[in-house]
Amino acid sequence: MTTALSEEIRAWLAANAPGRDEVPAPGTPEFVAFAQAFLGRVYDAGFSGISWPVEYGGRGLGQPEEKAFWSEAAAYDLPLGAVFGIGLGMCGPIVRELGTEEQKQRYLRPLLQGREVWCQLFSEPAAGSDLAALRTRAVSDGDDFVITGQKVWTTGAHYCDFGILLARTDPDVPKHRGLTMFIVPMREQGVTVRPLRDMTGASDFNEVFFDGLRVPASAVVGGVGGGWNAARTLLVLERLAVSAGLGVDNAAEGPLSFGGLAGRVRARGLLDSPIVADQLVDLYLAARAADLTDEKLAQEIDAGIDPGSRGSIGKLLKARLNCVAADLAVDLLGDADLDEDLRHDILQSRKLAIGGGTDEIQLTIIGERVLGLPREPQADLAVPFRDLPAN
Ligand SMILES: Cc1cc2nc3c(=O)[nH]c(=O)nc-3n(C[C@H](O)[C@H](O)[C@H](O)COP(=O)(O)OP(=O)(O)OC[C@H]3O[C@@H](n4cnc5c(N)ncnc54)[C@H](O)[C@@H]3O)c2cc1C
Repeated sequence: MTTALSEEIRAWLAANAPGRDEVPAPGTPEFVAFAQAFLGRVYDAGFSGISWPVEYGGRGLGQPEEKAFWSEAAAYDLPLGAVFGIGLGMCGPIVRELGTEEQKQRYLRPLLQGREVWCQLFSEPAAGSDLAALRTRAVSDGDDFVITGQKVWTTGAHYCDFGILLARTDPDVPKHRGLTMFIVPMREQGVTVRPLRDMTGASDFNEVFFDGLRVPASAVVGGVGGGWNAARTLLVLERLAVSAGLGVDNAAEGPLSFGGLAGRVRARGLLDSPIVADQLVDLYLAARAADLTDEKLAQEIDAGIDPGSRGSIGKLLKARLNCVAADLAVDLLGDADLDEDLRHDILQSRKLAIGGGTDEIQLTIIGERVLGLPREPQADLAVPFRDLPAN
């Protein structure tokens, strides 16, 4: 099945994938509009949400079939991952897993069709790794909740229609217990989005301020007070998506891929050096280990086995691979050989090692939840949130 589908996808992409010159500059409104229109065409061709249930717009197939699309897509410079990675990899899946029937009917198909774009509103200035310390409040008021607070590092907030937000609904219980997840509209009064510039010069991240945004109780995902469970489920889905390369564009052929880097090293005549050859072999092995881990996780999911926290292994291997490849590129090619694409990817190479939980946090998760090592001491687990010192 997968082989026939892969051939179908390959033929479709060969006929329909835009050439590099046709895609507007990343980060521009034209780029987002182009990505939305292209995902619409992917949907019409039957390749958007291949593993999602048929009743919500998907094709009802398995994880290997879903992965087949992204593997084939990685050969092209598509704009999909940059705009839809968070929606397709996290927000949609959490609505699919924990949302009400009404939420699933309302939100999933437009996401798969590219008509609505989503962001993830978790991190705050004083709540990143310690996410449960977040301070954004959602106060119950009649049939509504009123949201006030600040989020940060929100990728894509400036062009998104909806976000998955984590907020504190009960400060009188310990920090993990008083949280609730919401679907929030991003274009309403009461939401202010301010761009942040990263070291590549791009402004993909934002600060987002909520100033009394009113949402109905029907916007809650996973129950009032169920936010920590919902957030953990979303983060597991995120790590699995990152590990599997779902929603990631051009990973297979990019300048920091094994093939991309080996090609440049060969072109510079460096392959004769046994030291350089050794370094490339190490990179190849790291890439294979990451790929085989993904494959194993995908097979397990398909067989109905929940990989749970083992998704963190795949995410960690991918993040480290990026960093190793970037360091190798700088080491072997030197400043003179770094063209704009390579420079850009080197500057971006640390992002996977931070976003979705830093490498240190993944190591703790693997230690505690995969290997069963003793848990890190946490003094604040039983203390009501309002009694914890701020920051
Ligand atoms: C590319 C990118 C995209 C992002 N997109 C989003 C988004 O769309 N939405 C969103 O909500 N957030 C987003 N983030 C934010 C991201 O989730 C946080 O940056 C991340 O969780 C780390 O939090 P922090 O930046 O507050 O760092 P901190 O938590 O302050 O960590 C600082 C350093 O301390 C270390 N550290 C902290 N606690 C521990 C511990 N217990 N043990 C060992 N070491 C520890 C960390 O590993 C890190 O090295 C994004 C980040 C990046 C880089």
